Amino acid sequence: MTNLSATGGESGATPAAHRPWGAAEAAELAADDITVDLISLGKQIRHLRKQRELSLDDLGAAVGAAPSQLSLIENGKKEPKLSMLRALARALGVSSDELLGADPPNRRIALEIELERAQRSAQYRSLGLPSVKPSGRVPTEILEALVGLHREVDRQVNLHAATPEEARRANTELRKRMRDKDNYFADIEAEARRLLGNVGYAGGPLSQHQIADLAAHLRFTLHHVDDLPHSTRSVTDLKHRRIYLTQVGTGSHDPRTVLLQALASHVLQHGVPSTYLEFLGQRVSTNYLAAALLIPESSAVAFLRQGMADKEVAVEDLRDNFAVSYEAAAHRFTNLATHHLGIRTHFQKVHKSGIIFKAYENDDVAFPADPTGAIEGQPICRYWTSRQVFDVPDKFNAFNQYTDTATGTYWCTARTERSPDGLFSLSIGVPYESAKWFRGKETKARSVSRCPDPDCCRNPPRELSKTWAGNVWPTARAASSQLAAMPIGSFPGVDETEVYQFLERHAKP
Ligand SMILES: [Zn+2]
Repeated sequence: MTNLSATGGESGATPAAHRPWGAAEAAELAADDITVDLISLGKQIRHLRKQRELSLDDLGAAVGAAPSQLSLIENGKKEPKLSMLRALARALGVSSDELLGADPPNRRIALEIELERAQRSAQYRSLGLPSVKPSGRVPTEILEALVGLHREVDRQVNLHAATPEEARRANTELRKRMRDKDNYFADIEAEARRLLGNVGYAGGPLSQHQIADLAAHLRFTLHHVDDLPHSTRSVTDLKHRRIYLTQVGTGSHDPRTVLLQALASHVLQHGVPSTYLEFLGQRVSTNYLAAALLIPESSAVAFLRQGMADKEVAVEDLRDNFAVSYEAAAHRFTNLATHHLGIRTHFQKVHKSGIIFKAYENDDVAFPADPTGAIEGQPICRYWTSRQVFDVPDKFNAFNQYTDTATGTYWCTARTERSPDGLFSLSIGVPYESAKWFRGKETKARSVSRCPDPDCCRNPPRELSKTWAGNVWPTARAASSQLAAMPIGSFPGVDETEVYQFLERHAKP
């Protein structure tokens, strides 16, 4: 690609197009540069020349250029001057706009252009491999194969090179999409309804047996193996319509969920994702459909409505009734709460270190965010329920608390759960006026958060700072500094207040 300070266009109304270029026109047009793709321009010229049965010598004579110069232009290695471009267009009987803007005349030429372009990319050159000249002797299938490989390499590189920034932007975009739909995806709910109808689901939790029926209905057979690749939870062989699952328990993963997710990605007919956003979007849809099958809308809404009638709504009841994890129940609650019950909510999964692992809201609660709007990796206010719960000794019952925040008062219910990645809190919050529907509304626990005011909980208390600032060099745990995408404070991923308090405790004689 190169810039050509360009043509006024033969078809343009202005007669100036045929005058020698003056400074005024040049300045005017410089602001309107068009980008010329030399590879496709060259291919186009060669195609038209051959179609008109002209040799390089013939065309050279017509435009007053040496055949070797024309050859360079046709090979996309030399940029023609504007006057030459006009002469070539005239000799070939087209306008220069046509010459510049034309789509490849056929599939073969399109492949040649794409291959040359790919081979000239920095990415390809960095591999140190030879370039293939797509001359007429190269069969079209070989061009198809090479172009296909280049596209795949491109896709892989883009997918795996997703930078933390891209990942953050993708997460932010997905959170916005969920918010716009109040976390409720009507089309996926309809799909779940259809599938459940096919296996005669009548109500209650979905049994393992019904899930096996669902797999059979979708013409899959299930195979339990003990050598599943370490990095996978299931493998689907689409050719033989087999789903491979591990025989041993997968720790925190419900075997029903693993199977439903495998079936869901098949039902949703996901193509191979080409961007990180698409990849995440597919994962959200897959998980949503699996959850909508495991906790069917009709039964769950009836169950929650009963809870509202009794003013005893509780996420753990949803968990127990449908035999799912608390996390699965909490996510499912947010799908149904606004659409069916008129309750706005927020969800948080927060690491013991205080860092947000996952969170979303449609109740205007203000999560801490980095300048790109991303919240993953940000530290949650120390006074929020999602962090206070870590200090509560009772792990059997939910911890409930009212918290005054910058955007209002919220009632939140939280639990902690241990996972292979550490200890997390899972919490659901609702605006103060919705607390009346929930078990635990009478809690006496209250907290005030002044975040994002740094003196709320980010800055260590003044008297501690006076003693310890400048006299400490802590080392962050690797995991928490990786989680902390844009850490705040002097030591990435380290909570200075905790470090200072630790020192205070241990330094006393
Ligand atoms: Zn705070």
